[in-house]
Amino acid sequence: MMERFIRPHFRGFTPYQSARSLVLKGEILLDANELSSGSPVSFAGRGMNRYPDPLQRELRGALAAYAGVGPDMIFTGVGSDEVIDLLVRLTCTPGRDSIAFFGPTYGLYSVAANVNDIAATDLELDDSFNIPPGYNAECSSNTRILFCCSPNNPTGNLLKRDDVLKLTANPDLLVVADQAYIEFAEGRGDLAADVASHPNLIVLRTLSKAWGLAGIRLGYCIAHPELVACLDMIKSPYNVSSLTSGAALGALADRSFVRSAVQQIVAERERMRGLLQSFPMVTRIEPSDANFLLVHFTGANRVFDALLKENIVVRKRPEPRLNGCLRLTIGTRSENDALCGVLEKIV
Ligand code: PMP
Repeated sequence: MMERFIRPHFRGFTPYQSARSLVLKGEILLDANELSSGSPVSFAGRGMNRYPDPLQRELRGALAAYAGVGPDMIFTGVGSDEVIDLLVRLTCTPGRDSIAFFGPTYGLYSVAANVNDIAATDLELDDSFNIPPGYNAECSSNTRILFCCSPNNPTGNLLKRDDVLKLTANPDLLVVADQAYIEFAEGRGDLAADVASHPNLIVLRTLSKAWGLAGIRLGYCIAHPELVACLDMIKSPYNVSSLTSGAALGALADRSFVRSAVQQIVAERERMRGLLQSFPMVTRIEPSDANFLLVHFTGANRVFDALLKENIVVRKRPEPRLNGCLRLTIGTRSENDALCGVLEKIV
């Protein structure tokens, strides 16, 4: 059923198979040219001398329980960045197909398209950074994926769940809802549960944001089991390391960290919104359901330079629509106060 989304080149493709992906159990493992005697370092009591499970079954089970979906609906990658690249590679024929996205948004969709020699079209969010009301998922017939990001980076707003679901009405398109920041929306706008009833919907998630694990590089998508199987077919065999899955399993076993991190960030975000509004050079702050604020400044470049001089790095964006904006990540209370301290000194 999902085969029509896969580029013709991969239909009937023979993936790499390790001996262990065929034979799951064995006591004496002499199949993979590892060092049987052990490793010089270990993590959480586990040696590192063995290749990880190519399908990361235990980790996918834990992510599925967290997301409330079946374990066969989870694909894991080296950050969601790897998942984005693999989705483009799986579905788009280089030099022929294209992807589309609603901008301004996360820059990697167009970079992944470029890397894969795929065209990319910006369908443009409306003035309030929502999907334009009349948009009914009409795309060129070569468009394979439509990316929408909710909450959107860099604007911060959550897209309406219904607006995203409407996009799936075009049966020839895969709709990828990038929900990297969804935990900060505290239960609103989550599309994970909709994947089961919308086979052309894919939800992207990551442990890099609310989970505080950007360093381990773990992202995942929630997709139709047949699409997961296709992604497994083309990924590099051992993409997610034992270090990564060990750390992720440790984190997923206790959700109190993510819960309190989200609470703190949301409170701090709203405190910052109040503080920033009082500066005369702040002309507007966009609504945010993420861990950052998109702030319009008069003299944004001067603000950027003044912050940098005090070793505070924030994000400028190249899009013409975001001229005069800086994206400020919400840090700790003292980091945020340091940022405001610099703004106070700018006259
Ligand atoms: N999607 C969005 C919207 C992002 O902002 C980011 C990171 N900046 C990613 C995906 C990638 O996250 P990661 O590769 O760390 O999982």
